[in-house]
Amino acid sequence: MVTHPLVTAFEKITRVRLPEHPVIRYETVCVLGGSIAGLLAARVLADHARTVVIVERDPMDADGNPRAGVPQGHQVHGIGPAGLQLLEQWFPGLTEDARSLGATLVGPDGIITYVDSTRQLQSGTTSLLVCSRPLLESRIRRRVLALAPVRTLKAQATGLDFHGERVTAVRYTTDEGPGTLAADLVVDAMGRAGRLPDWLEQAGYERPRLERMRTGMQYATALFERTGRHLTDPEQTAAQFTLPSGPGGLAVALAQPVENRQWLIGITCYAEGNPPQTVEDFRALCEKLPGPFAEAAMGTVTREPAHFHQADSRRRDFTSLSRFPYRLISIGDAVASMNAAYGQGMTSAALQASCLSDHLNRNPDPDAPADAFFAAQAMVVDALWSFSAGADQARQDAIDGVEVPPEIRQARAARQQLAQAALVDETVNEALKAVAFGLAHPLTLTDPALLDRAAAVNRRAAEPS
Ligand SMILES: Cc1cc2nc3c(=O)[nH]c(=O)nc-3n(C[C@H](O)[C@H](O)[C@H](O)COP(=O)(O)OP(=O)(O)OC[C@H]3O[C@@H](n4cnc5c(N)ncnc54)[C@H](O)[C@@H]3O)c2cc1C
Repeated sequence: MVTHPLVTAFEKITRVRLPEHPVIRYETVCVLGGSIAGLLAARVLADHARTVVIVERDPMDADGNPRAGVPQGHQVHGIGPAGLQLLEQWFPGLTEDARSLGATLVGPDGIITYVDSTRQLQSGTTSLLVCSRPLLESRIRRRVLALAPVRTLKAQATGLDFHGERVTAVRYTTDEGPGTLAADLVVDAMGRAGRLPDWLEQAGYERPRLERMRTGMQYATALFERTGRHLTDPEQTAAQFTLPSGPGGLAVALAQPVENRQWLIGITCYAEGNPPQTVEDFRALCEKLPGPFAEAAMGTVTREPAHFHQADSRRRDFTSLSRFPYRLISIGDAVASMNAAYGQGMTSAALQASCLSDHLNRNPDPDAPADAFFAAQAMVVDALWSFSAGADQARQDAIDGVEVPPEIRQARAARQQLAQAALVDETVNEALKAVAFGLAHPLTLTDPALLDRAAAVNRRAAEPS
């Protein structure tokens, strides 16, 4: 067992409870962006503010439809167990609510994973809630908008007003023209393309340092009618490929049983890959995949393929700025937008909102920079980033033939050892999944007993039978 303080701190964030006796700290809080991160921040803040205004450029009444402000909403969006556990705490009954609209709760028996066409041992107690992104977002949105303090403003946020070292208001434009909204706290949840760094710079502050990890990921998703045994016996199937085994540069393929009796098939390719463009391409690729892919893609098409490209994973460092205004925080993809193939984004937003809840429960001084919040958030983001961007960097280094220092080489070899053993060993599989799903800190994977076990499992597997 690893007893590092980061392991404990991370685990605590996965389990922060809402306050039993909330204290109102703010008159008006303004959340910029009404997507997953903004909605979850609003949920947490509704316990601490008389009014929470969500400023969102898209209509916020749209029910379960893809929208312009979230172009990735057409693609596969699975929520991991760490995120779902927090959602259920904040919105009791959300899972059942989504299920009543056709979402599927896939239990451990139904979660099937292939790694390079080898079927992984099925194990554990984890269930996954599977539905389209618009359905999940709309169920969260309904719950948040039903909270008494929450209001919405359909507007494009255009800047901030400052007085001394504090943020005092948000500037925006609507169809009627520009306006200003005074706020005691502003939360930036405008996603990875949000303009907060520009606004900070214009006001004489440093821009948060931006770190980028080139990935060039390409996504294609289509929907097909789901029939036969898959109506009563739904399973979520994932096929993952390591370089260079995936057909057509494929990294991950997912078949998810979503609402309206559909299969959602999501294909993720590396930059050099060749994602399917047409339904025929989808079917041809799915023919080469294990499990139910071929059968799923044979159903009637209910939505043509939609495509998305993301050049890089990126994160912004809010912890090393020499000056930062009070009464301002940033959350969600605005802080870290990771390779979507790992399905971490919404869990990251939930864990960051949990950091905010923890921070507010500690009675912070509002007229000081929110250093403690940003430190906790960075701890969570580091953990998720090191798992996904760490693997992407290892892949890129292998392609480029980069020599890495011995300690990095060892860490990567250990991760490979674990991934290999996870195919057949329940303990290793569970430990790896806990980190992949955001339930545990990656340092838990450095446990010598776990590594010894993985090595022994792999040695046994390599022995001639
Ligand atoms: C292809 C793809 C697949 C993904 N799959 C998964 C997955 O399987 N699982 C998972 O957990 N995550 C996934 N993600 C990540 C997930 O989409 C995000 O992490 C999640 O939406 C949280 O992001 P966010 O709320 O911070 O920002 P976004 O979702 O980007 O939302 C930003 C919001 O801010 C609004 N906005 C922006 N600027 C302004 C402005 N100036 N004024 C007013 N409003 C503004 C936008 O309209 C939008 O509503 C995926 C991402 C991509 C790209």
